[in-house]
Amino acid sequence: MPELPEVETLKRALTPLISNKRLLELRFLRRDLRFPIPATKIRKGLLGKTVFKLTRKGKYILVHSAEGSLVLHLGMSGRFTQNSSIEPVEKHTHAIFKFEPTTYLHYVDPRRFGCLLWIPKGQGHPLLDGLGPDPMGKDITGKEMKFCAKNSRTASIKTFLMDARRIAGVGNIYACESLFAAGIHPQRPARLITSPQWDRLLSCLHNILEKSIAAGGTTLRSFHSTDGSQGYYKLSLAVYGRENLPCPKCKAPVKRITQSARSTFFCKICQKR
Ligand SMILES: [Zn+2]
Repeated sequence: MPELPEVETLKRALTPLISNKRLLELRFLRRDLRFPIPATKIRKGLLGKTVFKLTRKGKYILVHSAEGSLVLHLGMSGRFTQNSSIEPVEKHTHAIFKFEPTTYLHYVDPRRFGCLLWIPKGQGHPLLDGLGPDPMGKDITGKEMKFCAKNSRTASIKTFLMDARRIAGVGNIYACESLFAAGIHPQRPARLITSPQWDRLLSCLHNILEKSIAAGGTTLRSFHSTDGSQGYYKLSLAVYGRENLPCPKCKAPVKRITQSARSTFFCKICQKR
């Protein structure tokens, strides 16, 4: 599944290709992905219009025109490829965009859990409105997260980090690695994390996401892998997927537990409860 760094990488790769460019042609090869595609609204809002910027919130990319925003989500297996014509070249191609002068972007998604939606200017969308702040955003602070966590009676910090309503788009691998880097035990209740600990955790999370983005590269070529899981595997992981292997700091064996039905990897010596 494409994780936040892959989505940010895609946004950075698409920006020079379509920012300040007009959409000249648009083809949809089916009516729905995870949700119905609002083809008429997308045509009306984007076709012949200039894209003035791309932004990201969690795992959603927003392509903005003066009329509103196209919302993209890659789901489990979605990816964009750059091709030389408006004709589909691969199976499971569901949408094709031609931007000026001759940039053809094909959206390919075998499992069809991705989505293409439209938000008219000035309006919100239920999928985006409930999301917490983006972990790479400039507006996220330790003080704010401490405030946000104070009413979470039972949630552990690990479960809290992976709740998109609290922080948008932090996958399991990044939750485990950032808690290890910050020296915080994954089972500590989120409400007990202090402001300075939140600052440290957010800083570690930001660094790990940036490293993963750097490893993934910034071209569309990195999205040609069939499983869509480019990027993070190039990171040197400290604890994730390393059960019983030595902790890189203290050499104690890395532990694995289950939290909210997901595996958590951590070091019980280096991460304080
Ligand atoms: Zn350790």
